[in-house]
Amino acid sequence: MSKVFKYRQLFFVLTAVILIAIAINNQDISSALSYRSQTVETAAPKVEFLSTSTETVTTRTAKHKTTLAFEQYKPRYTAIAIHPSNYGDRYTVDVNGDALYNSPIVVLHETTNSALSAINTFRTSHPNARNQVSYHALIALDGTIVYLVAWDKRAFGAGNSAFVGASGVETVKTNPNFASSVNNFAYHVSLETPVDAWGKSNRTHSGYTESQYKSLAWLLTLTDVPDNRIATHQNVDRSGSRFDPRSFDFDKFFPILHSYRQPITN
Ligand SMILES: [Zn+2]
Repeated sequence: MSKVFKYRQLFFVLTAVILIAIAINNQDISSALSYRSQTVETAAPKVEFLSTSTETVTTRTAKHKTTLAFEQYKPRYTAIAIHPSNYGDRYTVDVNGDALYNSPIVVLHETTNSALSAINTFRTSHPNARNQVSYHALIALDGTIVYLVAWDKRAFGAGNSAFVGASGVETVKTNPNFASSVNNFAYHVSLETPVDAWGKSNRTHSGYTESQYKSLAWLLTLTDVPDNRIATHQNVDRSGSRFDPRSFDFDKFFPILHSYRQPITN
């Protein structure tokens, strides 16, 4: 074996070690997103149920039981730390000091561009509150779940918004300078937009992949949020400018969700 060959081997080994170190440190976004070409851990992470000021994990009663189909579906997932300026703590009182009692809702979104581009935005420091933005999780076109903000934190997914549910209009004002929103009790999940619609503002597009619907149903099964508290950004938006997730098919989604969970009837 020649000396040159040995040095070349050493070079490759060192390069590999450096690349692995970068990936582990999660400093390089393309390394962090290498799930597209790698085998990613498929075991479900331990995800805590969303809790609010009045509902804690210990006192909350499960509304659904999971099925064998849920147990058998093993979505690929990864977790990426985003910049702390883009999320915060959930408030226990509103701007007037009144205690908050909202049960959690889910708000669905789409990225409008690539998942990578959305993640890059969330990883960027935004000192100006008007630019701060995040989702709790997003689901890439191949169904990979990307965890971004912990469930018990407040993601900034829908400014100027309200949820109209069985108990009326729900919206929470936490900042005197901003319109009230659902962010304090929302779990924001975004679907990566199909490639044909990246950067386009058409009201419809080719829709989401089968893997995205399955991974979304699997993820929402973990939340235990009831069907009637699953909304779209368009549903809760009050600015008149949000129409996402475009071309989302609830008729396709709910049967998958219901194959993963069933209501517990007493
Ligand atoms: Zn949205």
